[in-house]
Amino acid sequence: MAVNKKKRMGIKERYSLLTRGLGWDTTYQPEEKVYPYDKYEGIIIHDWDEWEDPFRLTMDAYWKFQAEKERKLYAVIDSFAQNNGHLGITDARYINAIKIFLTGVSPLEYAAARGFTHVGRHFGGVGARVACQMQAIDELRHVQTQLHSMSHYNKYFDGLHNRGHMHDRVWYLSVPKSFFDDAMTAGPFEFLTAISFSFEYVLTNLLFVPFMSGAAFNGDMATVTFGFSAQSDEARHMTLGLGVIKFMLEQDERNVPIVQHWIDKWFWRGYRFLSLVAMMMDYMLPKRIMSWKEAWEIYFEDAGTSLFEDLGRYGIKLPKFHDIPAKEKDRLSHEVWSIFYNYTHAAAFHTWVPNEDEMQWLDSKYPDTFNKYYRPRYDHWQAEKDAGNRFYNQTLPMLCQTCQIPMGFTEPDDPTTICFRSSEHNGETYHFCSDGCKNIFDHEPEKYVQAWLPVHQIYQGNCGGASVEDVLEWYKLNKSVDNMDYDGSPDQKLWEQWQADRAKAAS
Ligand code: FE
Ligand code: ZN
Repeated sequence: MAVNKKKRMGIKERYSLLTRGLGWDTTYQPEEKVYPYDKYEGIIIHDWDEWEDPFRLTMDAYWKFQAEKERKLYAVIDSFAQNNGHLGITDARYINAIKIFLTGVSPLEYAAARGFTHVGRHFGGVGARVACQMQAIDELRHVQTQLHSMSHYNKYFDGLHNRGHMHDRVWYLSVPKSFFDDAMTAGPFEFLTAISFSFEYVLTNLLFVPFMSGAAFNGDMATVTFGFSAQSDEARHMTLGLGVIKFMLEQDERNVPIVQHWIDKWFWRGYRFLSLVAMMMDYMLPKRIMSWKEAWEIYFEDAGTSLFEDLGRYGIKLPKFHDIPAKEKDRLSHEVWSIFYNYTHAAAFHTWVPNEDEMQWLDSKYPDTFNKYYRPRYDHWQAEKDAGNRFYNQTLPMLCQTCQIPMGFTEPDDPTTICFRSSEHNGETYHFCSDGCKNIFDHEPEKYVQAWLPVHQIYQGNCGGASVEDVLEWYKLNKSVDNMDYDGSPDQKLWEQWQADRAKAAS
């Protein structure tokens, strides 16, 4: 090809050649056979050329930017390892938040890479295909950088040794896993509404800001660095999220009710998944950043309301159950921490009763509920533990058929009564933690009756055997090492040894 010396093409022109010029109309096979999935959800697209490209990056520019970020990230990871960065964290209890992230969130980055690759193949529009392809590559990078950053802790702390295996099997990890499996098995437009819009645009700040500022506050520079390295990617992903919603809504008004139902559904699914983050913020960070309640108010109630005001001109309303989290925000984290305190003998991380300073912080953040409902419970558990009876619940809980979380949430208007709902389908009864989860099931029962519910699977003998020991072995969890109370754990002993060594060296 002759080099055009007269004029170098601008990035805009090169991008439009990439996203439009490389497309073609099929001739051997009809379009609907080549793209079988982008019609059956009922979304009507009249003109793919109206797709606004959110990334506007050519491949060469993309690889250049990403390579630069990688160089910086790996330099920081190296120096973190060489300077024994793990000694700089606030307390070894902090690492339990990292264990949840590595086993519950990082595998979702990989799932996102798979999901966007699949979806990228199945859109009729070239611009959408390229955007999905690029996001798929980002997500693959995210899982890799997270594993590389956090693997340093695996040299010293327990529970980080088998995240892929655990993600597929361990009971509480079926919550994030089923969330993403649900999205990946939906149609392509629903996938983008679920992941790009509801998760990346509406709720992402409630996942990444708490984890990243939690890491910064607690001396975990490895995690902070991968967070920064992913930030510019996240900005592009959020643009795609909003872009795809507006595109669907502008193409045809018959799309509006379909999109509204997806927003209702994925808002609720995302919110239930974030209850893990609520617990992490209020209980697992030795140095707190803000409470879950404050985060919900800032990142959803304030930011979300103005977003939905903007979408109002298309006829889109706030998600159906948006007011329930406002009622639950004073108790969500306490309820979830209590579930894990009950079952930490079957988990790959430790739990503990908060100490007096922490209880005072919780009371200051939750003045209406903490001392009234939760402090007495912790005082009781502490007394039991002091008497040599640390409580571990030996009965398996009932799970919600939709979100798969044990039924430990309370009625929106009564924090002393467990909330439970049920539906009949083909003569069977299914149970739910909330109206939000029941509503999702009732809309697609054929999908959710297939849920792989860990408790049912254990009872059916599909998880290694009938005893807790059998199941832990099947999880590849090291007994009395990865699980049980933090107090007396190998993590705690090692950490205290380091502190003693340090004090000795300083004196
Ligand atoms: Fe990601
Ligand atoms: Zn549920």
